[in-house]
Amino acid sequence: ATPQGFPPREAATHCPYCALQCGMLLREDADGVTVLPRQFPTNRGGLCQKGWTAAELLDHPERLTTPLLRDPASGELRPASWDAALERIVTGIRAVQAESGRDAVAVFGGGGLTNEKAYALGKFARVGLRTRHIDYNGRFCMSSAAAAGLRAFGIDRGLPFPLADLGRADTLLLVGANPAETMPPLVRWLTEQRRNGGRLIVVDPRATATARQADLHLQPLPGTDLAVANALLHIALTEGWTDRAYVAERTTGFAAVRRSVAAWWPARAEQLSGVPVADLEATARALGTAGRAIILTARGAEQHAKGVDTVTAYVNLALALGLPGRPGSGYGCLTGQGNGQGGREHGQKADQLPGYRRIDDPAAREHVAGVWGVPADELPGPGVPAYQVLDSLGTPGGPRALLVLGSNPVVSAPRAAHVERRLRGLDLLVVADLLLSETAALADVVLPTAQWAEEDGTMTNLEGRVLRRRALRPPPPGVRTDLAILADLAARLAVAEPAAVPTDAPGPAGTAAARFPTDPAAVFAELRRASAGGPADYAGISWSRIDAADGVFWPCPTEDGPDTPRLFTDRFATPDGRARFHPVDHRPAAEPVCDEYPLHFTTGRVLAQYQSGTQTRRVDALRRAAPDAFVELHPDLAARLGIGDGEPVRVTSRRGELRAPARLSPTIRPDTVFAPFHWPGPARANSVTNDAVDPISGMPEFKICAVRVEKA
Ligand code: SF4
Repeated sequence: ATPQGFPPREAATHCPYCALQCGMLLREDADGVTVLPRQFPTNRGGLCQKGWTAAELLDHPERLTTPLLRDPASGELRPASWDAALERIVTGIRAVQAESGRDAVAVFGGGGLTNEKAYALGKFARVGLRTRHIDYNGRFCMSSAAAAGLRAFGIDRGLPFPLADLGRADTLLLVGANPAETMPPLVRWLTEQRRNGGRLIVVDPRATATARQADLHLQPLPGTDLAVANALLHIALTEGWTDRAYVAERTTGFAAVRRSVAAWWPARAEQLSGVPVADLEATARALGTAGRAIILTARGAEQHAKGVDTVTAYVNLALALGLPGRPGSGYGCLTGQGNGQGGREHGQKADQLPGYRRIDDPAAREHVAGVWGVPADELPGPGVPAYQVLDSLGTPGGPRALLVLGSNPVVSAPRAAHVERRLRGLDLLVVADLLLSETAALADVVLPTAQWAEEDGTMTNLEGRVLRRRALRPPPPGVRTDLAILADLAARLAVAEPAAVPTDAPGPAGTAAARFPTDPAAVFAELRRASAGGPADYAGISWSRIDAADGVFWPCPTEDGPDTPRLFTDRFATPDGRARFHPVDHRPAAEPVCDEYPLHFTTGRVLAQYQSGTQTRRVDALRRAAPDAFVELHPDLAARLGIGDGEPVRVTSRRGELRAPARLSPTIRPDTVFAPFHWPGPARANSVTNDAVDPISGMPEFKICAVRVEKA
């Protein structure tokens, strides 16, 4: 029996962390909750240590089980009733909106929220708060790849093909991706690919665990991936490896790209990137002569102020080689967060409405407003990307109140000390989380929320496969789901009610509560209607259909019609059905090195930690495996600076500094230093990073800035 006296119970669900969404079985008995691996197409029975230990947080002693309110006298966060906490929020929202207008309230969501929560949050912002300011932490994750995919293919789905295709590729090129540490079960596909005779080529400034498995590792200077791609296309053109028939029949705009890459002869790319001409030629040959080839990018290529153009350069290469739409071939992005894909499809993003519709498209506004039961002209217009919102908090004309769900920007935002100051200057900061994150610690109101094993819902993984997240048990006393919080806030804000409200929610029609159902099944039913006819069409996806298969791939417009594991087989999602080339050229990093800051700084993840570490830093086994931050330096650089292995160092940029022990490793370039971004306080890597953003995607330049390093 369980501690509560119930029979043992089980739930077949998915990991709470990354976008691989490994299948797992949760079992609760007298000894507590155990995680067991489950056969699922993405992980085939494998889990990484983060997945194995995920249940530890369910009964963690630091878990929040009561709302907290900041006491004005002492300045401390004190336990409070739900009624007091929610009233404080509503009073604060009304006050700032009355004084400064509706956009004075902003909402910051998360890529770990279920589809239902992401949808409800977008609706709450636009219908409940009537603010245009909503965006989410996925902006810091894969927004550059999303923008590049949209402009080339007319649609953005991380992988437009099933993951199993990786095992079938003759050549697999990974650019700025390190799945051996970020999503280890995916390595099985890489192993299978090589067992089948395929070649694995990795582009990364560090010899990561993934790069060390590769047949060929290109180690460019950070920020030069775009030039590498243009040189690869230059070689492919010179050697006659492009697919002329495919380019002629299925694409537009190639002539301009051909002209633009003509200037990227290999020796020039070598001079800029440091990648030898021979390696560029070998890579182009491996791609250009393969029967099946796949090019994947991840954050290393994407988190730049030219991230969209960098991804576009690799998309251009894939199109010129005729790869997208062919089995075992194509371009894809390895999405990072658990629901980074679904989170951006259903309305958390500043420029989008559910179904991946554009918020400035009159027809899209009309459709979604109809589902929500509000006049289309009352929906706010597009907002601005996440960093722009954070940077403007508390400034004249900027938002004065912020609601944060499932995110920790104090650790994860660029130029984090500045963001922290902005958050401290707000009239009202509300954070809903399961633990007291560094952002929650600054809040005026903290709301304790349910965990992944305590509520139902759906997630959309990196393949665009919609999955069921199934509850093992209800939330503990004192804790509420995000959907319940949004419904209660909407009711208290007394949302004006339309004449006809299409909803599956229980309760009397015509009430605010009915418009924000707390039952995730009801929210999903509404989401299906809202997404119907859009690029990310979920209309034909029911929970029972997901249960009957290993998930359902969008778009899936009808219940009795097929889903779409593979996109672009016949046409692209552009008006004329053709993919679009865009000429792109290298430009330097936003902050070049100089005498004062002579080294390149780059950031990333380690195997045992996840994102800002709010959860994984509190799990015993993960903390033991990766207890502290570090600064990775090449031994030659360390010798020049007089720094020994393990000695404390200070990394300083124009924006701030981080202090952590040195870790000497020959796997990094001598002109570059690396730090993981999972830790807060003095070791916070994002104190150093640059807040220059990509002009198209709004992606900050996390992956390169100029620093100096010295003994601390
Ligand atoms: Fe979870 Fe990702 Fe690890 Fe799979 S790879 S167990 S989804 S963290």
